[in-house]
Amino acid sequence: MSDFDGLKALVTGGASGIGRATAELLAARGAQVAVLDLDPSSVEKPLLAYSADVTDDASVRTAVAAAVADLGGLDVLVNNAGIGAHGTVEDNDDAEWHRVMDVNVVGMVRVARAALPHLRASSHAAIVNTCSIAATAGLPQRALYSATKGAVYSLTLAMAADHVREGIRVNCVNPGTVDTPWVGRLLSKATDPAAERAALEARQPTGRLVSAAEVAGAVAYLASPLSGATTGTALAVDGGMQGLRLRPV
Ligand code: NAD
Repeated sequence: MSDFDGLKALVTGGASGIGRATAELLAARGAQVAVLDLDPSSVEKPLLAYSADVTDDASVRTAVAAAVADLGGLDVLVNNAGIGAHGTVEDNDDAEWHRVMDVNVVGMVRVARAALPHLRASSHAAIVNTCSIAATAGLPQRALYSATKGAVYSLTLAMAADHVREGIRVNCVNPGTVDTPWVGRLLSKATDPAAERAALEARQPTGRLVSAAEVAGAVAYLASPLSGATTGTALAVDGGMQGLRLRPV
């Protein structure tokens, strides 16, 4: 028996990167897994796939209802879909702030709202939000992105408090720099992507990027009954980025 046998999970943004690795890990460990994504065309069995845009409440409600009906219930929500944003507060206009907030913050709220009635019926209910070290560290050129992840962190704590007596645990993972298509897209914009990647790796305490599978492992722990007494926490998966100070100051 695995800790995931019989668990029914929904992973948003599960067609790529961290979400994909998470969906695959949960399924490999015995969970039944549904993926909700803007473009789920690459998602393969045994994963179930549903197309939805987390900025569109109607499409979220329809997709969550279909996923829950096909799974036969819901125990785990991995609220992971998110997008990046670059720059200082002077670089992004109001429209861009609203657009990224709508995906990264309100998107998670919409999916949670649709999922909560079903999670209440589970005896192992857990929500895991994908946050970021940007929530609690001052990263340059990430004002908008960091503000969205700061909101995700606060949302995680507030939801943990609101739903603890209903038996629903709410936690988040705070990844560092993870080797996903997202980072690939960023590096491809550099004049020398290979040199940029080497510099990025050199900035990591471990000397390498975090893998999507390593973030998936942390999500899986927080999603499973193994972490049954853990709620309202953020688990860093950042290769020591935030906690370590390798050179004395
Ligand atoms: P990714 O771009 O590889 O995957 C993101 C997935 O989300 C894609 O499949 C995309 O189609 C989906 N998505 C985007 N907007 C959507 C929308 N409106 N509706 C539905 N689906 C949508 O990115 P990733 O690196 O795997 O990032 C996943 C999460 O991890 C994000 O929340 C991101 O903020 C967070 N994160 C990533 C890193 C990193 O270094 N890669 C670090 C910290 C946190």
